[in-house]
Amino acid sequence: MAIATINPATGETLKTFEPLNDVEIAAKLDLADQAFEKYRHTSFAERSQALQAAANILEQEKADFAKLMTLEMGKPYKAAIAEVEKCAAVCRYYAENAADFLADVSVKTDASHSFVRYQPLGIILAVMPWNFPFWQVFRFAAPALMAGNVGLLKHASNVPQCALAIEDIIHRAGFPKGVFQTLLIGAAKVADLIADERVKAATLTGSEPAGASLAAAAGKQIKKTVLELGGSDPFIVLESADVEAAAATATSARMLNNGQSCIAAKRFIVAEAIADQFEKLLLEKFTALKIGDPLHPDTDLGPLATPDILQDLDQQVQTAVKSGGKVLTGGYPLADRPGNFYPATIIIDIPVDQPIAQEEFFGPVALLFRVPDIDTAIQLANATPFGLGASAWTNNDQERDRLISEIEAGAVFINGLVKSDPRLPFGGIKRSGYGRELSIQGIHEFVNVKTVWVK
Ligand code: NAP
Repeated sequence: MAIATINPATGETLKTFEPLNDVEIAAKLDLADQAFEKYRHTSFAERSQALQAAANILEQEKADFAKLMTLEMGKPYKAAIAEVEKCAAVCRYYAENAADFLADVSVKTDASHSFVRYQPLGIILAVMPWNFPFWQVFRFAAPALMAGNVGLLKHASNVPQCALAIEDIIHRAGFPKGVFQTLLIGAAKVADLIADERVKAATLTGSEPAGASLAAAAGKQIKKTVLELGGSDPFIVLESADVEAAAATATSARMLNNGQSCIAAKRFIVAEAIADQFEKLLLEKFTALKIGDPLHPDTDLGPLATPDILQDLDQQVQTAVKSGGKVLTGGYPLADRPGNFYPATIIIDIPVDQPIAQEEFFGPVALLFRVPDIDTAIQLANATPFGLGASAWTNNDQERDRLISEIEAGAVFINGLVKSDPRLPFGGIKRSGYGRELSIQGIHEFVNVKTVWVK
């Protein structure tokens, strides 16, 4: 894939980049390594000051960064603004809390003094996707830099200007040269980077094949990885739920980021007793969405990020129809305009035993299933290789407790939208990956948990 900015709303190539050659990559690795030797000795106060400065830059220049994201990957401008603000919040969160999260922890043993100390590992490689081009990177960088690590970013090839802007923000914030660098390289270079002895660990947010490939390369070198992969998240609505509120949140949950979010609700599992009402409301809300220019402030639904994503999604919809599904609205790419536009789509009646019923639809397509009871709802929610997030709606305490304990996912949100929050750990189980980002668990992923025992 060429490294380029191609406006997904028009198909126009705005800027192309030459990938780094091997000599340039080696120079950046050398610089990162030298930077780590000094940076590891900086204090939490120094790191915190720089991270707060990064938050200030993000807030002051959010309009520019939001526009860049929208131009490169098509998310509605208002969502892009919210993303930049969230990046500032995660910087502030770790600037304020990292010293506590990484303080020595005393443990009573037969020693006169024993404790756990958290120390940085060194260079961490981050391989990131285009869908939240700022958030995914800051979610990694804020804890990693506060812990004293240094970062190398291999961003998705369709968001190179976002990648360079992030490097620039971190540099301008006052972090020393080489502490965070962007490498404009293709995916084929990742395995060589992991094999370099100076790179200590890697994190990847993206698809299953990319995650498997990175983890295999790291496994060969006995290096730790964190993987944040795909999801086919269930959104369960039981009879006791507030159906109107559920339908409104269902629409936001499915349409988040033009439907291209790992934690977007994708399979709507609805109790038969309220299914007609829910389906009618969802249809009304989907058809009311404004699709169009993502830079326009009123737009709800922009284009998909690339023509390939559009084609893959359309293929999945056709397969769903061949498998017995019926399209209530949408169901085809918009051919009346340039760009990668796909309308809000609802598909009902897909037989649950069809493989397509378990797949991740990475676009604005909702699959609606009817179930007779909570047992079937939970069974269907878990009938997927993924396990990222789940949203479940009920006003019955016993049902709530069963949903919390029996749904196989990294997160369960009751009567709310699944979202990431710097204060809560984020990550998946099953084929959605392993490891956690955010919160105290996130900052502990890339540190040496050193046991100290003193006689
Ligand atoms: P992708 O193709 O896997 O790309 C993600 C990143 O991995 C890009 O930087 C890509 O580089 C790189 N990459 C691709 N193949 C690779 C390989 N074999 N070895 C090393 N790196 C490789 O992901 P996508 O399809 O753009 O993103 C959508 C997927 O990400 C969905 O499945 C979505 O659910 C998941 N996702 C998960 C989360 C989460 O937090 N769990 C968040 C967002 C997205 P190039 O661009 O150069 O190919």
